[in-house]
Order: sequence, then C-alpha cells, then structure tokens
Amino acid sequence: MTGTPVGLELAGVGHRYRDTTILHGLDLTIAPGEFVTVLGPSGVGKSTLLRLLAGLERPTTGRVRATGDRDPLCRMMFQEDRLLPWRTVLQNVQLGVRGRRDRATELLEAVGLAGRERDWPLELSGGQRQRVALARALLHRPDVLLLDEPFGALDAVTRVTMQQLLERLLAEQPRTVVLVTHDVEEALILSDRVLLLTSEGITRDLRIDRPRPRSHGDPELAAHKAELLDGLLAADRALRG
Ligand code: ADP
Repeated sequence: MTGTPVGLELAGVGHRYRDTTILHGLDLTIAPGEFVTVLGPSGVGKSTLLRLLAGLERPTTGRVRATGDRDPLCRMMFQEDRLLPWRTVLQNVQLGVRGRRDRATELLEAVGLAGRERDWPLELSGGQRQRVALARALLHRPDVLLLDEPFGALDAVTRVTMQQLLERLLAEQPRTVVLVTHDVEEALILSDRVLLLTSEGITRDLRIDRPRPRSHGDPELAAHKAELLDGLLAADRALRG
C-alpha cells in the first residue's frame, strides 16, 4: 500500500565522490509524516543527502533505511520543473504511468490549474510549471516527498503562494517531506524541524512548534531566523576556509 507516511533513518552515513568526501557519520531519524528542512552552505551535500534518501545513490559508509515495513515510494521535485515541452500539461502529470487521468485532472485542479490540461508547458508561467511538477510528484501518492529547492527560481510572491499551496495539500494528504532550501524563512514557515547541515555534520536540529498557518511576522520565528542565519554564515565561512 502506498500513501501512508513512513519514516526514514540514516545511521553513520558517509558519502564520497571519487576524491571528495562530503558526509561523515551522519545519524538522523525522520518520523513518519514529519516535515524536515535541511539548510546548509552550497556544496555541503544537501542534494546528495536527498539522493541517498531517495535510494538514487548508495552511501559509501553507513545505511539508509525506511522505518516502516516496506520500501517507501519517494518522489523528487527540483528547482527546474523538468517538464517535457512536447507533452501537454496533463500528459506531463501522467508521465511514466498508464491512465490515472481522473486523478491527474483532480490534482491539476488542486494546484489551481483546472482547464489548463491541454496547454503546453511553454504557455505557462514559471510558478504554474512548478505547480504541474508538484501535481506530477503527487500523482504517485508518494510516501516521501523530497524537494530540492523547488521554489528557488520563483519570485517572492509566487514563492509564498507555492508554500501555501504545498502546506494545504499536505494538510489534506500527509506525507513525510524533506526540503532543501536556501530560504530560512521558507524553512521556518513550513517545517516541523529545521536542520543545519555543515561540514561538521548536523549542528542544529531545531523543532518548530508554532501553529499553522504561520505568520511571517511571528517574533518567535524571527528569533530562530537570526540564529539560523548566523549558523549558516559561520558554516559557509568554515566550508570555504
Ligand atoms: P549541496 O546540495 O549542498 O550544494 P551537493 O550534494 O550538490 O551539495 O554536492 C556536494 C559536493 O559533492 C560538491 O562539491 C559537488 O561538487 C560534489 N558532487 C555532487 N555530485 C557529484 C557527482 N555526481 N560526482 C562528483 N562530485 C559530485
């Protein structure tokens, strides 16, 4: 069965690409249904961590496993929409699956694109294309949604709209989510937990207990924001020597 959140566990995970070692002895437990965001300087290994969680990469040391009784179905979403320009919006959502036309149409409606099924990706704005990418990721009813800076290329208003959309969809259909972002505010608005990944490992693991939907003006979040930004700057300096 798919569609029920499962948890993930990393134990002693390290990863090496030929002559670059990026993750060392990483231990992390992600609870079923938890929304975890990973912040960290560029090059520290955030995307690699997502690929390890997705099973697209095998760790050089340690192990990654699901804490449920089955292999989780993972779906990834990226900063680029990765839509096929020669396929319609609906065909892009259905990509790689037979049928499920009704579900695909339903999802397009849920992401605010009802009536755009036959349009081509190039007829849509960047934000709308990311909505299609999100619908495509959700079509498979994944246990785990892995998001690699999915809103990073969008303007500020579209980005906030997408965050609200994601939050609404997850309230209807809870999933385990791991988000990588450079946007500290995005992390604080959306997450149950925010991790700071540095060359030393996970140096902050912050639980955010504020009720949802959260306000950008929340003073408690502002205090966390300052702390995380300081941590990020220090980690960036350390990584670049
Ligand atoms: P981040 O997402 O934090 O920017 P990445 O996981 O993309 O970090 O990359 C971490 C480091 O590993 C970088 O130095 C990058 O150049 C290197 N790297 C990433 N993918 C590969 C790969 N497929 N082959 C070799 N090196 C890679």
